[in-house]
Amino acid sequence: MPDPRRATPRTDTVLADPALTAAAGRLGPALVRDVVHDVLAACRTGLVEPGDVAGVVLASLPATATTLRPVLNATGVLVHTNLGRAPLSPAAVEALAVAAGTSDVELDLSSGRRGRRGRGALDALARAVPDAGAVHVVNNGAAALALVTLALAAGRRVVVARGELVEIGDGFRIPELLESVGARLREVGTTNRVRLEDYAEAVDENVAFVLKVHPSNFRVTGFTSAVPVEQLASLPVPVVVDIGSGLLAPHPRLPEEPTAAAALRAGATVVTASGDKLLGGPQCGLLLGEAGVVEGLRRHPFARALRVDKLTLAALEATLRGPLPPVRAALEADPAELLRRARALAAALAPDVPAEAVESVGAVGGGGAPGVELPSAAVAVDERWALPLRTGATPVLGRAHRGRLLLDLLAVPADQDEALVRAVRAAAGAP
Ligand SMILES: *Cc1c(COP(=O)(O)O)cnc(C)c1O
Repeated sequence: MPDPRRATPRTDTVLADPALTAAAGRLGPALVRDVVHDVLAACRTGLVEPGDVAGVVLASLPATATTLRPVLNATGVLVHTNLGRAPLSPAAVEALAVAAGTSDVELDLSSGRRGRRGRGALDALARAVPDAGAVHVVNNGAAALALVTLALAAGRRVVVARGELVEIGDGFRIPELLESVGARLREVGTTNRVRLEDYAEAVDENVAFVLKVHPSNFRVTGFTSAVPVEQLASLPVPVVVDIGSGLLAPHPRLPEEPTAAAALRAGATVVTASGDKLLGGPQCGLLLGEAGVVEGLRRHPFARALRVDKLTLAALEATLRGPLPPVRAALEADPAELLRRARALAAALAPDVPAEAVESVGAVGGGGAPGVELPSAAVAVDERWALPLRTGATPVLGRAHRGRLLLDLLAVPADQDEALVRAVRAAAGAP
């Protein structure tokens, strides 16, 4: 038996393999070298044959230079926080590729002078929300709220209902955000009820604005009351409305979800929202409202610290102007068609892999439309495949339900059905 240590090739010899040189050009030499080192270590212990080293390295290289892995979202949750919220539309992905190079993001090509940064995205947003006198885009929803608060209420008070002191997720609390930029809170009402008089009594010369926050990830039912924007607009201070999910106009399936258009028409001074929830675009924060106020926010010194990237601007514009993004398309999905797909998938898995097509219930998730049930369909498989599915070549995240794993199709693009079948077969150890 030859000593595997002596038969192990040298790093440089392996790296000289033309396939690995090409991979190094694509992924970077450091990344390829790291994988070569790992495989050579395995070769020294006899786990890998010396003649197989280059092949094993090639098979172990990641597809791209990022450690991010694409995951099939079979949870039935449309906007999944841990999966990066809204997946972008193909049009937005194409726009990203354009913006990734050098582009006219801040240049007027005809005059050769500096142009308004992101004018295409801002114009598209203004067109999508005609009730807004002006629009601005920042890094995320929290940044939008921070900017309005900092600009209008630093050292002053913000009046907010106790029932709207929301924690969004991962410990992010809106009241703490407001205080962190120098505002003091004046809480009114109780957990379940607040009246216009509560707000009216709290408003004095120290109050910069009244804030209405959409309870976007929970519902309070029973003996409740909240004050609609049109009534708050009768108060002698501006009204800022954080609608959260970024629904610009009403959607028939989400009748209770606040929209930017409705809030502005009801008299909101400024509306803030996220771009990567129900709008279905990239992570960003939208500021929509009275021209003078929004223009002031745009020119505030701190706005520069919240400025969005060219990639974001490109993806946002394509989301607004292009075809329906996946989140919106899924909202429109026909449950009968989802069930047909689930049956076809179950049939494709049979007979090696036991699977059953079932009706299921999906959700918007990610801080939008709490409690709304979206009729969907799923393939139910053995719960023990959850781990191999997550860690397989194409990771799949399903939803545990009554001792089975549901692979819900609501957020799975139809062109991924074959990939889903392959992933389940692999997880189940089927040929
Ligand atoms: C999601 C959400 C936010 C935070 O937005 P990000 O884009 O995550 O920063 C703020 N307010 C409400 C009501 C939300 O739902």
